[in-house]
Amino acid sequence: MTDLHRLSIRELTEGLASANFSSRELTEHYLKRIAKIDTQVKSYVTVTAEQALDEADAADALRKAGGATALTGVPIAHKDIFCTHGIKTTAGSKILDNFISPYDATVVAKGKTAGLVTLGKVNMDEFAMGSTSESSYFGATANPWALDHVPGGSSGGSAAAVAADLAPFATGTDTGGSIRQPASFCGLTGLKPTYGRVSRFGMIAYASSLDQGGPMARSAEDCAYLMNVMAGHDAKDSTSVEKDVDNYVANLNGTSVKGLRIGIPKQYFNVAGLDADVKARVEESLKKLEEMGATLVEIDLNMTDAYVPTYYLIAPAEASSNLQRFDGVRYGYRCENPVDLMDLYKRSRSEGFGKEVQQRILIGTYALSAGYYDAYYVKAQKVRRLIQQDFLKAFESVDVIAAPAAPTTAYKIGANLSPVEMYLGDIYTIAVNLAGLPAINAPVGFDKDNLPVGLQLIGNYWSESQLLSVVHQYQQATDWHTKRAVIAEENA
Ligand code: GLN
Repeated sequence: MTDLHRLSIRELTEGLASANFSSRELTEHYLKRIAKIDTQVKSYVTVTAEQALDEADAADALRKAGGATALTGVPIAHKDIFCTHGIKTTAGSKILDNFISPYDATVVAKGKTAGLVTLGKVNMDEFAMGSTSESSYFGATANPWALDHVPGGSSGGSAAAVAADLAPFATGTDTGGSIRQPASFCGLTGLKPTYGRVSRFGMIAYASSLDQGGPMARSAEDCAYLMNVMAGHDAKDSTSVEKDVDNYVANLNGTSVKGLRIGIPKQYFNVAGLDADVKARVEESLKKLEEMGATLVEIDLNMTDAYVPTYYLIAPAEASSNLQRFDGVRYGYRCENPVDLMDLYKRSRSEGFGKEVQQRILIGTYALSAGYYDAYYVKAQKVRRLIQQDFLKAFESVDVIAAPAAPTTAYKIGANLSPVEMYLGDIYTIAVNLAGLPAINAPVGFDKDNLPVGLQLIGNYWSESQLLSVVHQYQQATDWHTKRAVIAEENA
Protein backbone atom coordinates (compact mmCIF):
# COMPACT_ATOMS: atom_id res chain seq x y z
CA MET A 1 0.00 0.00 0.00
CA THR A 2 1.50 3.29 -1.04
CA ASP A 3 -1.21 5.71 0.05
CA LEU A 4 -1.56 4.92 3.75
CA HIS A 5 -0.97 8.60 4.52
CA ARG A 6 -4.17 9.43 2.66
CA LEU A 7 -6.42 7.41 4.92
CA SER A 8 -8.67 9.06 7.48
CA ILE A 9 -8.52 7.97 11.11
CA ARG A 10 -11.66 5.88 10.65
CA GLU A 11 -10.11 4.20 7.61
CA LEU A 12 -6.94 3.56 9.61
CA THR A 13 -8.89 1.92 12.44
CA GLU A 14 -10.74 -0.24 9.89
CA GLY A 15 -7.59 -1.16 7.98
CA LEU A 16 -5.78 -2.16 11.17
CA ALA A 17 -8.80 -4.10 12.48
CA SER A 18 -9.13 -6.10 9.27
CA ALA A 19 -5.35 -6.61 9.02
CA ASN A 20 -5.08 -4.86 5.64
CA PHE A 21 -1.87 -3.43 7.06
CA SER A 22 -0.06 -3.58 10.37
CA SER A 23 0.84 -0.73 12.69
CA ARG A 24 4.46 -1.45 11.84
CA GLU A 25 3.82 -0.96 8.11
CA LEU A 26 1.85 2.18 8.79
CA THR A 27 4.47 3.60 11.14
CA GLU A 28 7.32 2.78 8.75
CA HIS A 29 5.37 4.45 5.97
CA TYR A 30 5.02 7.67 7.98
CA LEU A 31 8.66 7.59 9.12
CA LYS A 32 9.77 7.25 5.48
CA ARG A 33 7.66 10.24 4.47
CA ILE A 34 9.06 12.29 7.34
CA ALA A 35 12.63 11.40 6.30
CA LYS A 36 11.86 12.38 2.71
CA ILE A 37 9.71 15.49 3.03
CA ASP A 38 10.31 17.04 6.43
CA THR A 39 13.69 18.40 5.34
CA GLN A 40 11.54 20.97 3.51
CA VAL A 41 8.62 21.37 5.93
CA LYS A 42 10.68 21.20 9.16
CA SER A 43 7.69 20.32 11.27
CA TYR A 44 9.41 17.85 13.61
CA VAL A 45 11.86 18.91 16.32
CA THR A 46 12.42 15.28 17.34
CA VAL A 47 11.55 12.12 15.41
CA THR A 48 11.31 9.11 17.72
CA ALA A 49 11.71 6.46 15.03
CA GLU A 50 13.06 3.61 17.14
CA GLN A 51 10.55 4.04 19.92
CA ALA A 52 7.72 4.42 17.41
CA LEU A 53 8.58 1.10 15.79
CA ASP A 54 8.69 -0.60 19.21
CA GLU A 55 5.30 0.87 20.03
CA ALA A 56 3.97 -0.26 16.65
CA ASP A 57 5.19 -3.82 17.23
CA ALA A 58 3.59 -3.80 20.68
CA ALA A 59 0.34 -2.55 19.13
CA ASP A 60 0.42 -5.33 16.52
CA ALA A 61 1.08 -7.93 19.21
CA LEU A 62 -1.79 -6.60 21.31
CA ARG A 63 -4.08 -6.78 18.32
CA LYS A 64 -3.09 -10.38 17.60
CA ALA A 65 -3.79 -11.20 21.25
CA GLY A 66 -7.26 -9.69 20.93
CA GLY A 67 -6.62 -6.76 23.29
CA ALA A 68 -6.71 -3.89 20.78
CA THR A 69 -9.10 -0.95 20.90
CA ALA A 70 -10.03 1.16 17.86
CA LEU A 71 -6.94 3.39 17.79
CA THR A 72 -4.36 0.76 18.75
CA GLY A 73 -1.42 1.24 16.39
CA VAL A 74 -2.46 4.61 14.88
CA PRO A 75 0.44 7.13 14.74
CA ILE A 76 0.34 10.63 16.20
CA ALA A 77 2.63 13.67 16.53
CA HIS A 78 2.70 15.60 19.81
CA LYS A 79 3.28 19.32 20.11
CA ASP A 80 6.63 19.77 21.85
CA ILE A 81 4.88 21.40 24.81
CA PHE A 82 3.57 18.05 26.12
CA CYS A 83 6.03 16.27 28.40
CA THR A 84 7.08 12.88 27.07
CA HIS A 85 8.85 10.43 29.35
CA GLY A 86 12.43 9.92 28.21
CA ILE A 87 12.03 12.09 25.10
CA LYS A 88 13.24 15.68 24.83
CA THR A 89 10.52 18.28 25.49
CA THR A 90 11.66 21.75 24.48
CA ALA A 91 8.61 24.04 24.19
CA GLY A 92 10.55 25.51 21.24
CA SER A 93 13.06 27.09 23.62
CA LYS A 94 16.82 27.03 24.06
CA ILE A 95 16.21 27.06 27.79
CA LEU A 96 14.72 23.54 27.55
CA ASP A 97 16.93 22.30 24.73
CA ASN A 98 18.34 19.58 27.01
CA PHE A 99 15.20 18.83 29.02
CA ILE A 100 14.17 15.17 29.17
CA SER A 101 10.94 14.80 31.06
CA PRO A 102 10.79 12.18 33.81
CA TYR A 103 7.06 11.68 33.22
CA ASP A 104 4.34 11.80 30.55
CA ALA A 105 1.76 14.57 30.28
CA THR A 106 -1.72 13.17 30.94
CA VAL A 107 -2.62 13.71 27.27
CA VAL A 108 0.42 11.68 26.20
CA ALA A 109 -0.30 8.97 28.77
CA LYS A 110 -3.91 8.73 27.59
CA GLY A 111 -2.62 8.40 24.02
CA LYS A 112 -0.41 5.51 25.08
CA THR A 113 -3.32 3.83 26.87
CA ALA A 114 -5.34 4.14 23.67
CA GLY A 115 -2.46 2.49 21.78
CA LEU A 116 -1.33 5.53 19.78
CA VAL A 117 2.21 5.37 18.36
CA THR A 118 4.26 8.55 18.89
CA LEU A 119 6.10 9.54 15.70
CA GLY A 120 7.80 12.47 17.40
CA LYS A 121 7.54 15.98 18.78
CA VAL A 122 6.59 18.89 16.56
CA ASN A 123 7.70 22.50 16.39
CA MET A 124 6.03 25.51 17.97
CA ASP A 125 6.57 29.13 18.87
CA GLU A 126 8.77 29.42 21.94
CA PHE A 127 6.60 28.66 24.99
CA ALA A 128 3.60 28.94 22.63
CA MET A 129 4.01 32.71 22.35
CA GLY A 130 3.39 33.70 18.77
CA SER A 131 1.33 33.21 15.65
CA THR A 132 3.93 32.06 13.12
CA SER A 133 6.10 29.37 14.79
CA GLU A 134 9.09 31.54 13.81
CA SER A 135 9.98 32.28 17.42
CA SER A 136 11.06 28.66 17.89
CA TYR A 137 14.71 28.25 18.85
CA PHE A 138 14.78 25.42 16.30
CA GLY A 139 13.91 27.64 13.36
CA ALA A 140 10.84 28.27 11.25
CA THR A 141 8.46 25.59 9.97
CA ALA A 142 7.11 25.91 6.42
CA ASN A 143 3.46 26.00 5.40
CA PRO A 144 2.86 22.88 3.24
CA TRP A 145 0.65 24.97 0.91
CA ALA A 146 3.46 27.43 0.13
CA LEU A 147 6.85 26.72 1.63
CA ASP A 148 7.83 30.39 1.85
CA HIS A 149 4.85 31.03 4.16
CA VAL A 150 4.39 30.31 7.85
CA PRO A 151 2.09 27.53 9.05
CA GLY A 152 0.73 29.82 11.77
CA GLY A 153 1.33 29.36 15.43
CA SER A 154 1.93 28.50 18.02
CA SER A 155 1.01 24.90 17.08
CA GLY A 156 2.56 25.40 13.63
CA GLY A 157 4.51 22.13 13.66
CA SER A 158 1.34 20.17 14.45
CA ALA A 159 -0.52 21.86 11.60
CA ALA A 160 2.30 21.54 9.07
CA ALA A 161 2.92 17.87 9.91
CA VAL A 162 -0.73 16.95 9.37
CA ALA A 163 -1.15 19.13 6.27
CA ALA A 164 1.94 17.57 4.66
CA ASP A 165 0.65 14.06 5.51
CA LEU A 166 3.51 13.52 7.95
CA ALA A 167 1.10 12.49 10.73
CA PRO A 168 -2.57 11.51 10.53
CA PHE A 169 -3.41 13.81 13.45
CA ALA A 170 -1.61 15.79 16.14
CA THR A 171 -2.06 17.36 19.52
CA GLY A 172 -2.00 21.13 19.86
CA THR A 173 -2.57 23.70 22.56
CA ASP A 174 -4.56 26.89 22.40
CA THR A 175 -4.03 29.81 24.79
CA GLY A 176 -5.26 32.48 22.40
CA GLY A 177 -5.80 30.70 19.09
CA SER A 178 -2.82 28.38 18.74
CA ILE A 179 -4.93 25.44 17.55
CA ARG A 180 -7.47 27.33 15.45
CA GLN A 181 -5.16 29.81 13.67
CA PRO A 182 -2.58 27.28 12.42
CA ALA A 183 -5.46 24.95 11.47
CA SER A 184 -6.85 27.85 9.46
CA PHE A 185 -3.48 28.69 7.84
CA CYS A 186 -2.91 25.03 6.88
CA GLY A 187 -6.42 24.03 5.78
CA LEU A 188 -7.16 21.75 8.75
CA THR A 189 -9.84 21.18 11.33
CA GLY A 190 -8.80 22.03 14.89
CA LEU A 191 -10.81 22.10 18.11
CA LYS A 192 -10.10 24.22 21.17
CA PRO A 193 -12.14 22.57 23.93
CA THR A 194 -13.88 24.25 26.87
CA TYR A 195 -11.38 25.26 29.56
CA GLY A 196 -11.12 22.27 31.91
CA ARG A 197 -12.15 19.60 29.40
CA VAL A 198 -8.58 18.41 28.69
CA SER A 199 -5.95 17.94 31.40
CA ARG A 200 -3.11 20.45 31.49
CA PHE A 201 -0.92 18.14 33.60
CA GLY A 202 2.48 17.91 31.94
CA MET A 203 1.60 20.56 29.37
CA ILE A 204 4.22 23.28 29.83
CA ALA A 205 2.34 26.33 31.11
CA TYR A 206 2.15 29.58 29.18
CA ALA A 207 -0.92 31.32 30.69
CA SER A 208 -2.58 28.80 32.97
CA SER A 209 -6.07 30.30 33.06
CA LEU A 210 -6.22 30.24 29.23
CA ASP A 211 -4.20 27.17 28.16
CA GLN A 212 -6.12 24.21 26.76
CA GLY A 213 -5.01 21.21 24.70
CA GLY A 214 -6.98 19.88 21.77
CA PRO A 215 -6.90 17.91 18.51
CA MET A 216 -5.70 19.03 15.06
CA ALA A 217 -6.57 16.86 12.06
CA ARG A 218 -7.91 16.84 8.52
CA SER A 219 -11.58 16.60 9.43
CA ALA A 220 -14.04 16.93 12.29
CA GLU A 221 -14.38 13.16 12.29
CA ASP A 222 -10.62 12.71 12.76
CA CYS A 223 -10.65 15.34 15.54
CA ALA A 224 -13.50 13.47 17.26
CA TYR A 225 -11.35 10.34 17.48
CA LEU A 226 -8.57 12.29 19.17
CA MET A 227 -10.98 14.16 21.46
CA ASN A 228 -12.21 10.78 22.71
CA VAL A 229 -8.62 10.13 23.79
CA MET A 230 -7.76 13.59 25.18
CA ALA A 231 -10.89 14.65 27.08
CA GLY A 232 -11.66 13.86 30.67
CA HIS A 233 -11.15 14.75 34.30
CA ASP A 234 -7.67 14.36 35.76
CA ALA A 235 -7.00 14.42 39.49
CA LYS A 236 -3.52 15.81 38.69
CA ASP A 237 -4.99 19.03 37.22
CA SER A 238 -7.20 20.91 39.68
CA THR A 239 -8.70 22.97 36.83
CA SER A 240 -9.83 19.92 34.89
CA VAL A 241 -13.55 19.50 35.38
CA GLU A 242 -15.34 16.44 36.74
CA LYS A 243 -17.95 16.09 34.07
CA ASP A 244 -18.92 13.15 31.91
CA VAL A 245 -17.15 13.00 28.56
CA ASP A 246 -19.20 12.64 25.40
CA ASN A 247 -18.44 9.99 22.82
CA TYR A 248 -17.46 12.53 20.19
CA VAL A 249 -17.30 9.98 17.35
CA ALA A 250 -20.71 8.50 18.12
CA ASN A 251 -22.17 12.02 18.32
CA LEU A 252 -20.88 13.19 14.93
CA ASN A 253 -24.39 13.29 13.54
CA GLY A 254 -25.97 14.29 16.83
CA THR A 255 -26.68 17.94 16.03
CA SER A 256 -28.84 18.91 13.13
CA VAL A 257 -27.77 21.89 11.06
CA LYS A 258 -31.45 22.31 10.26
CA GLY A 259 -32.77 24.91 12.64
CA LEU A 260 -29.30 25.74 14.02
CA ARG A 261 -29.13 29.43 14.93
CA ILE A 262 -25.75 30.85 13.93
CA GLY A 263 -24.85 34.24 15.39
CA ILE A 264 -22.99 36.65 13.15
CA PRO A 265 -21.32 39.34 15.28
CA LYS A 266 -21.68 42.67 13.47
CA GLN A 267 -18.43 43.94 14.95
CA TYR A 268 -16.40 40.98 13.64
CA PHE A 269 -17.04 41.57 10.00
CA ASN A 270 -16.06 45.24 10.16
CA VAL A 271 -12.63 44.72 11.69
CA ALA A 272 -9.96 46.79 9.95
CA GLY A 273 -7.47 44.41 8.42
CA LEU A 274 -10.02 41.69 7.58
CA ASP A 275 -8.81 40.41 4.22
CA ALA A 276 -11.42 40.56 1.44
CA ASP A 277 -10.86 36.95 0.34
CA VAL A 278 -11.13 35.69 3.92
CA LYS A 279 -14.35 37.60 4.37
CA ALA A 280 -15.77 36.29 1.10
CA ARG A 281 -14.91 32.62 1.81
CA VAL A 282 -16.33 32.81 5.33
CA GLU A 283 -19.53 34.38 4.04
CA GLU A 284 -19.82 31.69 1.37
CA SER A 285 -19.46 28.97 4.01
CA LEU A 286 -22.20 30.60 6.07
CA LYS A 287 -24.39 30.71 3.00
CA LYS A 288 -23.80 26.99 2.55
CA LEU A 289 -24.77 26.33 6.17
CA GLU A 290 -27.88 28.42 5.56
CA GLU A 291 -28.73 26.24 2.55
CA MET A 292 -28.31 23.23 4.82
CA GLY A 293 -31.02 24.64 7.08
CA ALA A 294 -29.25 26.94 9.54
CA THR A 295 -30.57 30.41 10.35
CA LEU A 296 -28.13 33.33 10.40
CA VAL A 297 -28.82 35.83 13.17
CA GLU A 298 -27.00 39.13 13.43
CA ILE A 299 -25.72 39.66 16.97
CA ASP A 300 -23.70 42.21 18.93
CA LEU A 301 -20.44 41.47 20.68
CA ASN A 302 -19.76 44.93 22.02
CA MET A 303 -16.50 44.17 23.77
CA THR A 304 -14.58 43.35 20.57
CA ASP A 305 -12.26 46.35 20.89
CA ALA A 306 -11.17 45.19 24.33
CA TYR A 307 -10.02 41.70 23.30
CA VAL A 308 -6.45 42.42 22.26
CA PRO A 309 -5.49 44.73 25.17
CA THR A 310 -7.12 42.44 27.74
CA TYR A 311 -5.50 39.27 26.45
CA TYR A 312 -2.10 40.91 26.05
CA LEU A 313 -2.13 41.90 29.71
CA ILE A 314 -3.45 38.70 31.26
CA ALA A 315 -1.44 36.26 29.13
CA PRO A 316 1.97 37.95 29.70
CA ALA A 317 1.16 38.45 33.41
CA GLU A 318 0.56 34.73 33.87
CA ALA A 319 3.53 33.89 31.65
CA SER A 320 5.88 36.06 33.73
CA SER A 321 4.85 34.08 36.79
CA ASN A 322 4.91 30.65 35.13
CA LEU A 323 8.31 31.19 33.52
CA GLN A 324 10.02 32.13 36.80
CA ARG A 325 10.82 28.46 37.27
CA PHE A 326 13.34 28.55 34.42
CA ASP A 327 16.18 30.02 36.44
CA GLY A 328 19.22 27.97 35.44
CA VAL A 329 19.20 26.20 38.81
CA ARG A 330 16.78 23.29 38.75
CA TYR A 331 16.67 22.34 35.09
CA GLY A 332 17.13 23.67 31.64
CA TYR A 333 19.88 25.82 30.19
CA ARG A 334 22.54 27.24 32.52
CA CYS A 335 24.96 29.98 31.51
CA GLU A 336 28.71 29.35 31.56
CA ASN A 337 30.83 30.37 34.55
CA PRO A 338 28.37 32.46 36.59
CA VAL A 339 30.17 34.76 39.02
CA ASP A 340 27.35 34.67 41.59
CA LEU A 341 23.70 33.62 41.93
CA MET A 342 22.31 36.84 40.45
CA ASP A 343 24.61 36.51 37.44
CA LEU A 344 23.46 32.87 37.05
CA TYR A 345 19.79 33.90 37.01
CA LYS A 346 20.29 36.88 34.74
CA ARG A 347 22.48 35.30 32.12
CA SER A 348 20.72 31.91 32.08
CA ARG A 349 17.42 33.66 31.39
CA SER A 350 18.83 36.27 28.99
CA GLU A 351 20.69 33.64 26.99
CA GLY A 352 18.01 30.95 27.28
CA PHE A 353 14.86 32.88 26.38
CA GLY A 354 14.24 34.41 22.96
CA LYS A 355 13.19 38.00 22.32
CA GLU A 356 9.40 37.54 22.21
CA VAL A 357 9.41 35.59 25.48
CA GLN A 358 11.61 38.17 27.20
CA GLN A 359 9.36 40.96 26.00
CA ARG A 360 6.29 39.26 27.45
CA ILE A 361 7.99 38.49 30.76
CA LEU A 362 8.87 42.18 31.06
CA ILE A 363 5.33 43.34 30.22
CA GLY A 364 3.79 40.79 32.56
CA THR A 365 6.12 41.60 35.44
CA TYR A 366 5.39 45.29 34.99
CA ALA A 367 1.61 44.71 34.99
CA LEU A 368 1.84 42.64 38.16
CA SER A 369 4.17 44.97 40.07
CA ALA A 370 2.91 46.63 43.26
CA GLY A 371 2.06 50.07 41.93
CA TYR A 372 0.43 48.88 38.71
CA TYR A 373 -1.37 45.69 39.72
CA ASP A 374 -4.80 47.33 40.19
CA ALA A 375 -4.52 49.61 37.20
CA TYR A 376 -3.55 46.83 34.79
CA TYR A 377 -4.03 43.28 35.99
CA VAL A 378 -7.14 43.71 38.14
CA LYS A 379 -8.73 45.94 35.52
CA ALA A 380 -8.01 43.40 32.79
CA GLN A 381 -9.64 40.69 34.90
CA LYS A 382 -12.77 42.84 35.22
CA VAL A 383 -12.88 43.41 31.49
CA ARG A 384 -12.39 39.69 30.99
CA ARG A 385 -15.60 39.10 32.95
CA LEU A 386 -17.46 41.57 30.73
CA ILE A 387 -16.20 39.76 27.62
CA GLN A 388 -17.48 36.47 29.02
CA GLN A 389 -20.88 38.03 29.82
CA ASP A 390 -21.08 39.40 26.30
CA PHE A 391 -20.81 35.84 24.95
CA LEU A 392 -23.27 34.40 27.46
CA LYS A 393 -25.80 37.01 26.50
CA ALA A 394 -25.33 36.14 22.83
CA PHE A 395 -25.87 32.44 23.56
CA GLU A 396 -29.35 33.27 24.87
CA SER A 397 -30.44 33.81 21.29
CA VAL A 398 -28.06 31.69 19.17
CA ASP A 399 -26.58 28.18 19.31
CA VAL A 400 -23.15 28.93 17.87
CA ILE A 401 -21.27 32.07 16.83
CA ALA A 402 -19.44 32.33 13.49
CA ALA A 403 -16.24 34.25 12.81
CA PRO A 404 -13.14 34.02 10.69
CA ALA A 405 -10.37 32.18 12.58
CA ALA A 406 -7.94 34.90 11.54
CA PRO A 407 -8.26 38.17 9.60
CA THR A 408 -5.71 37.02 7.00
CA THR A 409 -4.30 33.89 5.42
CA ALA A 410 -0.73 32.74 6.17
CA TYR A 411 2.03 35.38 6.29
CA LYS A 412 5.31 35.12 4.43
CA ILE A 413 8.18 33.71 6.47
CA GLY A 414 10.26 36.66 7.69
CA ALA A 415 7.44 39.18 7.16
CA ASN A 416 8.59 40.60 10.47
CA LEU A 417 5.30 42.06 11.61
CA SER A 418 5.48 44.55 14.46
CA PRO A 419 4.21 43.14 17.77
CA VAL A 420 1.02 45.17 17.47
CA GLU A 421 0.35 43.97 13.91
CA MET A 422 0.91 40.39 15.02
CA TYR A 423 -1.24 40.72 18.14
CA LEU A 424 -4.11 42.20 16.08
CA GLY A 425 -4.08 38.99 14.05
CA ASP A 426 -5.39 37.24 17.19
CA ILE A 427 -8.56 39.34 17.35
CA TYR A 428 -10.95 36.49 16.46
CA THR A 429 -9.48 33.79 18.68
CA ILE A 430 -8.38 35.26 22.03
CA ALA A 431 -11.78 36.20 23.46
CA VAL A 432 -12.78 32.53 23.33
CA ASN A 433 -9.91 31.70 25.71
CA LEU A 434 -10.68 34.68 27.95
CA ALA A 435 -14.25 33.33 28.27
CA GLY A 436 -13.12 29.67 28.48
CA LEU A 437 -15.42 28.64 25.61
CA PRO A 438 -14.90 25.89 23.01
CA ALA A 439 -14.38 26.76 19.33
CA ILE A 440 -13.47 24.95 16.13
CA ASN A 441 -11.80 25.89 12.85
CA ALA A 442 -12.87 24.33 9.58
CA PRO A 443 -11.32 24.92 6.14
CA VAL A 444 -13.73 26.72 3.80
CA GLY A 445 -11.74 27.57 0.68
CA PHE A 446 -8.75 29.53 -0.54
CA ASP A 447 -7.57 33.06 -1.18
CA LYS A 448 -6.23 34.35 -4.52
CA ASP A 449 -2.80 32.83 -3.74
CA ASN A 450 -4.26 29.39 -3.04
CA LEU A 451 -3.74 29.73 0.72
CA PRO A 452 -6.42 28.16 2.95
CA VAL A 453 -9.12 30.18 4.72
CA GLY A 454 -10.82 29.02 7.93
CA LEU A 455 -14.27 29.43 9.42
CA GLN A 456 -14.44 29.49 13.19
CA LEU A 457 -17.52 28.34 15.08
CA ILE A 458 -17.67 29.25 18.77
CA GLY A 459 -19.95 27.22 21.03
CA ASN A 460 -21.35 27.52 24.53
CA TYR A 461 -19.60 25.68 27.38
CA TRP A 462 -19.22 21.90 26.86
CA SER A 463 -20.60 22.01 23.31
CA GLU A 464 -17.62 20.20 21.73
CA SER A 465 -19.90 17.48 20.36
CA GLN A 466 -22.16 20.06 18.78
CA LEU A 467 -19.26 21.91 17.13
CA LEU A 468 -17.73 18.71 15.78
CA SER A 469 -21.13 17.57 14.55
CA VAL A 470 -21.92 20.80 12.71
CA VAL A 471 -18.53 20.81 11.01
CA HIS A 472 -18.83 17.09 10.22
CA GLN A 473 -22.10 17.71 8.41
CA TYR A 474 -20.65 20.69 6.58
CA GLN A 475 -17.76 18.44 5.54
CA GLN A 476 -20.18 15.76 4.30
CA ALA A 477 -21.72 18.38 2.03
CA THR A 478 -18.47 20.05 0.84
CA ASP A 479 -14.95 18.94 -0.05
CA TRP A 480 -12.64 21.70 1.20
CA HIS A 481 -11.24 19.42 3.91
CA THR A 482 -10.23 16.83 1.29
CA LYS A 483 -7.94 19.24 -0.59
CA ARG A 484 -4.30 18.41 -0.04
CA ALA A 485 -1.42 20.82 0.39
CA VAL A 486 0.92 21.36 -2.53
CA ILE A 487 3.86 19.46 -1.03
CA ALA A 488 1.54 16.57 -0.12
CA GLU A 489 0.27 16.44 -3.72
CA GLU A 490 3.82 16.53 -5.08
CA ASN A 491 4.67 13.63 -2.81
CA ALA A 492 1.45 11.71 -3.20
N1 GLN B 1 -0.83 34.22 19.20
C1 GLN B 1 -1.26 34.20 20.57
C2 GLN B 1 -0.10 34.56 21.47
O1 GLN B 1 0.92 34.82 20.95
C3 GLN B 1 -1.84 32.88 20.96
C4 GLN B 1 -0.83 31.84 21.24
C5 GLN B 1 -1.40 30.59 21.82
O2 GLN B 1 -2.61 30.32 21.72
N2 GLN B 1 -0.56 29.83 22.47
O3 GLN B 1 -0.19 34.61 22.66
